[in-house]
Amino acid sequence: MRFKPKPFKEPVKFRCLYCLDCCRGRFIYLTLKDIQKIAEAGYDPQDFVLMVPGGDKVRFVMAYREWDLGCVFHDPETGKCRIHDRNPVICRIYPFMVSRKPLGVEGEEPFEYKGERFWLYYDESCPGINSEEPEMVITPEEIAGLGIEFEHELETTDMEGFLKLLEELDRED
Ligand code: SF4
Ligand code: SF4
Repeated sequence: MRFKPKPFKEPVKFRCLYCLDCCRGRFIYLTLKDIQKIAEAGYDPQDFVLMVPGGDKVRFVMAYREWDLGCVFHDPETGKCRIHDRNPVICRIYPFMVSRKPLGVEGEEPFEYKGERFWLYYDESCPGINSEEPEMVITPEEIAGLGIEFEHELETTDMEGFLKLLEELDRED
Protein backbone atom coordinates (compact mmCIF):
# COMPACT_ATOMS: atom_id res chain seq x y z
CA MET A 1 0.00 0.00 0.00
CA ARG A 2 1.32 3.47 -0.81
CA PHE A 3 0.88 6.32 1.63
CA LYS A 4 -1.71 8.72 0.21
CA PRO A 5 -1.05 11.95 2.13
CA LYS A 6 -3.89 14.22 3.20
CA PRO A 7 -3.15 17.32 5.29
CA PHE A 8 -3.68 16.65 9.00
CA LYS A 9 -4.69 19.91 10.65
CA GLU A 10 -7.52 18.99 13.03
CA PRO A 11 -7.98 16.05 15.43
CA VAL A 12 -9.27 12.92 13.67
CA LYS A 13 -11.23 9.94 14.96
CA PHE A 14 -9.39 6.68 14.63
CA ARG A 15 -9.75 2.96 15.19
CA CYS A 16 -7.21 0.47 13.87
CA LEU A 17 -9.00 -2.22 11.87
CA TYR A 18 -5.95 -4.50 11.80
CA CYS A 19 -5.94 -4.73 8.05
CA LEU A 20 -2.12 -5.27 8.09
CA ASP A 21 -1.47 -2.72 5.39
CA CYS A 22 0.88 -0.61 7.47
CA CYS A 23 2.75 -3.63 8.87
CA ARG A 24 3.69 -5.09 5.51
CA GLY A 25 5.87 -4.14 2.58
CA ARG A 26 7.51 -1.06 4.05
CA PHE A 27 10.65 -0.25 5.97
CA ILE A 28 9.91 0.13 9.68
CA TYR A 29 12.87 2.19 10.87
CA LEU A 30 14.12 1.35 14.33
CA THR A 31 15.89 3.58 16.79
CA LEU A 32 18.27 2.21 19.42
CA LYS A 33 15.63 2.91 22.04
CA ASP A 34 13.07 0.86 20.06
CA ILE A 35 15.52 -2.05 19.77
CA GLN A 36 16.34 -1.88 23.47
CA LYS A 37 12.68 -1.84 24.55
CA ILE A 38 11.83 -4.85 22.40
CA ALA A 39 14.96 -6.76 23.44
CA GLU A 40 14.10 -6.16 27.11
CA ALA A 41 10.88 -8.07 26.52
CA GLY A 42 13.01 -11.13 25.71
CA TYR A 43 13.33 -10.87 21.92
CA ASP A 44 16.76 -11.37 20.38
CA PRO A 45 17.79 -8.43 18.12
CA GLN A 46 19.19 -11.03 15.71
CA ASP A 47 15.62 -12.16 15.08
CA PHE A 48 14.04 -8.77 14.48
CA VAL A 49 16.70 -6.27 13.32
CA LEU A 50 17.94 -5.90 9.75
CA MET A 51 20.54 -3.43 8.55
CA VAL A 52 20.10 -1.39 5.39
CA PRO A 53 22.20 1.38 3.86
CA GLY A 54 20.82 4.83 4.62
CA GLY A 55 22.83 7.71 3.18
CA ASP A 56 26.12 7.97 5.02
CA LYS A 57 25.18 5.53 7.75
CA VAL A 58 23.58 2.19 8.38
CA ARG A 59 19.89 2.18 9.24
CA PHE A 60 18.16 -0.47 11.31
CA VAL A 61 14.80 -1.76 10.16
CA MET A 62 12.35 -4.35 11.37
CA ALA A 63 12.79 -7.86 9.98
CA TYR A 64 9.92 -9.17 7.88
CA ARG A 65 8.45 -12.51 6.87
CA GLU A 66 9.49 -13.73 3.47
CA TRP A 67 6.12 -15.13 2.51
CA ASP A 68 4.11 -11.90 2.77
CA LEU A 69 6.64 -9.19 3.68
CA GLY A 70 4.73 -8.73 6.96
CA CYS A 71 6.58 -7.53 10.06
CA VAL A 72 7.85 -10.42 12.22
CA PHE A 73 5.75 -9.15 15.13
CA HIS A 74 2.50 -9.11 13.23
CA ASP A 75 0.22 -11.97 14.26
CA PRO A 76 -1.43 -13.30 11.08
CA GLU A 77 -4.21 -14.95 13.11
CA THR A 78 -5.47 -11.90 14.97
CA GLY A 79 -4.03 -9.20 12.70
CA LYS A 80 -2.60 -7.57 15.82
CA CYS A 81 0.87 -6.51 16.86
CA ARG A 82 2.59 -8.92 19.28
CA ILE A 83 4.55 -6.07 20.87
CA HIS A 84 1.84 -3.46 20.93
CA ASP A 85 2.82 -2.11 24.35
CA ARG A 86 6.39 -1.49 23.18
CA ASN A 87 6.16 -1.07 19.43
CA PRO A 88 8.58 1.29 17.63
CA VAL A 89 7.89 5.00 17.65
CA ILE A 90 7.40 4.97 13.88
CA CYS A 91 4.55 2.46 14.31
CA ARG A 92 2.96 4.83 16.83
CA ILE A 93 3.12 7.63 14.28
CA TYR A 94 1.53 5.66 11.45
CA PRO A 95 -1.05 6.21 9.78
CA PHE A 96 0.19 9.76 10.20
CA MET A 97 3.32 11.37 8.82
CA VAL A 98 5.54 14.17 10.09
CA SER A 99 7.56 16.09 7.52
CA ARG A 100 9.94 19.01 7.83
CA LYS A 101 8.99 20.13 4.32
CA PRO A 102 5.68 20.48 2.50
CA LEU A 103 4.88 17.57 0.18
CA GLY A 104 2.93 19.69 -2.29
CA VAL A 105 -0.50 18.34 -1.31
CA GLU A 106 -3.54 20.57 -1.74
CA GLY A 107 -4.64 22.26 1.50
CA GLU A 108 -1.39 21.62 3.42
CA GLU A 109 -0.10 24.24 5.80
CA PRO A 110 2.67 24.38 8.39
CA PHE A 111 1.98 23.32 11.96
CA GLU A 112 3.94 24.98 14.75
CA TYR A 113 4.69 22.86 17.81
CA LYS A 114 7.16 23.58 20.63
CA GLY A 115 8.81 26.29 18.54
CA GLU A 116 9.30 23.97 15.56
CA ARG A 117 7.57 23.84 12.23
CA PHE A 118 6.16 20.69 10.60
CA TRP A 119 3.84 19.57 7.86
CA LEU A 120 1.56 16.82 9.08
CA TYR A 121 -0.41 14.33 7.00
CA TYR A 122 -2.50 11.23 7.42
CA ASP A 123 -2.80 8.31 5.08
CA GLU A 124 -6.07 8.53 3.25
CA SER A 125 -5.89 4.83 2.39
CA CYS A 126 -5.90 3.71 6.05
CA PRO A 127 -9.45 2.43 6.66
CA GLY A 128 -9.24 3.31 10.36
CA ILE A 129 -9.10 7.07 9.81
CA ASN A 130 -12.42 8.83 10.50
CA SER A 131 -13.82 5.50 11.64
CA GLU A 132 -17.55 5.48 12.42
CA GLU A 133 -16.80 3.62 15.64
CA PRO A 134 -13.67 5.40 16.81
CA GLU A 135 -11.52 4.08 19.61
CA MET A 136 -9.63 7.34 20.05
CA VAL A 137 -9.08 10.83 18.77
CA ILE A 138 -5.60 11.67 17.49
CA THR A 139 -4.39 15.25 17.63
CA PRO A 140 -1.74 17.03 15.53
CA GLU A 141 0.12 17.86 18.77
CA GLU A 142 0.46 14.16 19.66
CA ILE A 143 1.82 13.30 16.24
CA ALA A 144 4.20 16.27 16.10
CA GLY A 145 5.50 15.20 19.55
CA LEU A 146 6.13 11.65 18.31
CA GLY A 147 7.79 13.08 15.20
CA ILE A 148 10.23 15.04 17.37
CA GLU A 149 10.94 11.92 19.45
CA PHE A 150 11.57 9.84 16.32
CA GLU A 151 13.86 12.43 14.73
CA HIS A 152 15.86 12.85 17.91
CA GLU A 153 16.24 9.11 18.55
CA LEU A 154 17.14 8.37 14.93
CA GLU A 155 19.92 10.97 14.96
CA THR A 156 21.66 9.11 17.76
CA THR A 157 21.12 5.64 16.26
CA ASP A 158 24.30 4.29 14.70
CA MET A 159 26.41 1.14 14.44
CA GLU A 160 28.57 2.06 17.41
CA GLY A 161 25.51 2.47 19.63
CA PHE A 162 24.01 -0.77 18.30
CA LEU A 163 27.15 -2.80 19.11
CA LYS A 164 27.28 -1.25 22.57
CA LEU A 165 23.63 -2.14 23.14
CA LEU A 166 24.29 -5.77 22.09
CA GLU A 167 27.15 -5.95 24.59
CA GLU A 168 24.93 -4.58 27.37
CA LEU A 169 22.18 -7.05 26.53
CA ASP A 170 24.71 -9.92 26.54
CA ARG A 171 25.92 -8.89 29.99
CA GLU A 172 22.35 -8.89 31.32
CA ASP A 173 21.75 -12.48 30.07
S1 SF4 B 1 -3.39 1.68 11.12
FE1 SF4 B 1 -4.77 1.67 9.34
S2 SF4 B 1 -3.63 0.65 7.71
FE2 SF4 B 1 -2.62 0.16 9.65
S3 SF4 B 1 -3.51 -1.82 10.29
FE3 SF4 B 1 -4.67 -0.16 11.29
S4 SF4 B 1 -6.38 0.22 9.92
FE4 SF4 B 1 -4.87 -0.91 8.73
S1 SF4 C 1 5.95 -3.67 15.32
FE1 SF4 C 1 3.77 -4.05 15.40
S2 SF4 C 1 2.80 -2.17 14.66
FE2 SF4 C 1 4.98 -2.12 14.04
S3 SF4 C 1 5.03 -2.99 11.98
FE3 SF4 C 1 5.40 -4.67 13.42
S4 SF4 C 1 3.37 -5.57 13.79
FE4 SF4 C 1 3.06 -3.54 12.89
